[in-house]
Amino acid sequence: MIEFDEILVAQASFTARVVWWEFKPTNDDLTGLEVEVQRSYSQTDSFARVAVVRHPVNYYVDTEVNLRDFWRDAYYKLAATFQGRTVVTEQRGLASIVSVPAREMIRLHNLDLRFSGMPVLIYLVRKGDRCPDCWDSVLKKVTRSHCTTCYATGFKGGYYSPVLTLANIVPEDKTNQPDVTMRESTRTMLKMSNFPAVKPRDVIRELNNGIAWRIEKVTPSELERVVIIQECNLIKLETNEIEHKLPIPEGLDFLIKPHWAKIIRNQQEFITRDRAQNPVERLNIWRG
Ligand SMILES: [Zn+2]
Repeated sequence: MIEFDEILVAQASFTARVVWWEFKPTNDDLTGLEVEVQRSYSQTDSFARVAVVRHPVNYYVDTEVNLRDFWRDAYYKLAATFQGRTVVTEQRGLASIVSVPAREMIRLHNLDLRFSGMPVLIYLVRKGDRCPDCWDSVLKKVTRSHCTTCYATGFKGGYYSPVLTLANIVPEDKTNQPDVTMRESTRTMLKMSNFPAVKPRDVIRELNNGIAWRIEKVTPSELERVVIIQECNLIKLETNEIEHKLPIPEGLDFLIKPHWAKIIRNQQEFITRDRAQNPVERLNIWRG
C-alpha cells in the first residue's frame, strides 16, 4: 500500500513552480512506481496531467505554468497507481502568496549563484519502501551499519535521485573544530537556492572534487514566509563513510564548469562539461 506523506508546492523561479512529495514508510517495493502530476487553475476541478515522474525522482519543476495572471493561481494533485489501486491526493497550492519582491529576491540570489556557485549533487534522505536487506520489521530498526542497499538509512536506496544544482561552499580550512566525539571534524558553510528544500542528514557531493558533506543544520532566509535562500552547516564525510558509495548519475563523471547562462525558450540553464578532447557539451541543471 502507498500513501503520500508530505507534499510541497514552492516558487521555483520567476516563472516556474516546483512540486515535491514524499511517501509514508512502507514494506512494499516501490521500484518503477510512477507519479502523475496534475495541474489546474481552479481548486475544485479541471485537473489535467502535466507530467509523469518515476520513483525515486520525487519532484517536478513546472516551467509551463502560467503565473502572469495574479487573479488566479495554480493548484496541483498527485496520482499514483500501485498494486491496482490508484491514490490521488487533495489539491495543493502555494503555502503562502509569493509577492513580486520575494520572486525578485529569489531571482537575484539564483543569478549570484550562477557566477559564484559550483556544481553539487544534493541527495535528499528518502522515505517510502523499507530496506529489503537490513530492515527488521519486528524490531523496527536497521540490523547492519554498512548496508549498501539503504546506506544505513533503513529505506531502500537511502536517498532520492540527486538534484544537480549550484551552491556556494565556503573554503573548509577556516572552521576546523572537534565534534562531540572529540574527533577532529571538518566543518564549513554552504549557501544555495530555495530548492531542493534540504534537511539535516541530507548529503551534498561536490561534483568536481568528489568531496562529500552531511548537512548538520539548515537556516533558511525568508521574506514574507517564502524561503529565498538556504544556508547550511556541513560536516565533511570521511572517504571510508558509506555515503561516498552513493551513485553518481551517468554522464556526470567529468569536470564541470559553471557557464554563463544560455537561456532557451523554456528557461533551462546549461553548464558546460570541461572535456579537452570533445566538443563542448551542455547539461541541464536546476537553476532555480
Ligand atoms: Zn539496508
